[in-house]
Amino acid sequence: MRKLATVRTVSEIRPIKGADMIVLAVVDGWKCVVKKDEFKPGDSAVYCEIDSFLPVKPEFEFLRKSSFKRMGDQEGFRLRTVKLRGQISQGLLLPLSVLDRPAESGEDVTQELGIEKYEPPTPACLSGKVVGPFPATVQKTDEERIQNLASDYDSFKEHLFYVTEKLDGTSFTAIFDGEFSVCGRNWQLAPDDSNSYWQIANRLELASRMQVLGRRIAIQGELIGPGIQGNRYKLKQAELYVFNVFDLDQFAYVEKEEVATICEQLSLQIVPFIEERFIPESIDEILKIAEGKSVLNPQTQREGLVWVSGSGQKRISFKTISNKFLARGGD
Ligand code: ATP
Ligand code: MN
Repeated sequence: MRKLATVRTVSEIRPIKGADMIVLAVVDGWKCVVKKDEFKPGDSAVYCEIDSFLPVKPEFEFLRKSSFKRMGDQEGFRLRTVKLRGQISQGLLLPLSVLDRPAESGEDVTQELGIEKYEPPTPACLSGKVVGPFPATVQKTDEERIQNLASDYDSFKEHLFYVTEKLDGTSFTAIFDGEFSVCGRNWQLAPDDSNSYWQIANRLELASRMQVLGRRIAIQGELIGPGIQGNRYKLKQAELYVFNVFDLDQFAYVEKEEVATICEQLSLQIVPFIEERFIPESIDEILKIAEGKSVLNPQTQREGLVWVSGSGQKRISFKTISNKFLARGGD
């Protein structure tokens, strides 16, 4: 479960040019516009990340005008990236008093506040009969946002990172462990030709090709195309771009050189490679680098980048989502 609401310390309050009622609060790597004089540096507060879906409660009514949203048959307030007076603002900073109790820095208060993750409705082509949960023999594909790694940021500076474009589709995993199975981000799916995951697996002949390869591995990639996340790359048919190969016997990711070999053997494409580099001085700078056009379709803003360094126990990875993408309603 993603920690959407946590107790954190306000590290800085900055003025906003041309505004006298609002200021910018800095919380770890996040920036959030708040009312002037509501917080000061060093204060503890509850920070709710973007994608939070807050319950309808009197104390959140002030969000109605900007954030009211339905999710299935639930009503609530959805937090997303906004621009106020030219300033990007992400999430919501609440005074500690919303908790009615003392709280310590780092505490996860997502459930206590009744907050859930906002999920857009699943299109029919991505829903299907579930066989079971995502198998424990394979690592899930989640990546942490750099804004939540502020205290580790300096220690990442000695590492060389391999940077790829983050594609905005849906997470796909195909596993061969003697048998062949197909999973979405959280579930294993029953064979079904009306569902995009199985359609691509069949079209790419993954079951037979992985069997011929004969290795106990999982292929993990982003599935993009018609019907998925608005098809921002304007593809005519679904495509799979591999970002990881996972070795079931080692319970570890396969090194990138070997990923390339395996993808060649299986005739699969890899997510667009951007560059190999060290991280810049600050989180602000690395977020700037996330912005740019997509390699797949230069007409569209890319969602961001994924940064990976090292392998095995020493593997570090995170994502940087482009604020330009988010501010244009890209999420
Ligand atoms: P959300 O929580 O809103 O669904 P998300 O799609 O960014 O966000 P995360 O788990 O937070 O999901 O980010 C990692 C996901 O990004 C992976 O599950 C994968 O599906 C996707 N992805 C797209 N491109 C890449 C890439 N180049 N490298 C790694 N993961 C990628
Ligand atoms: Mn995604």
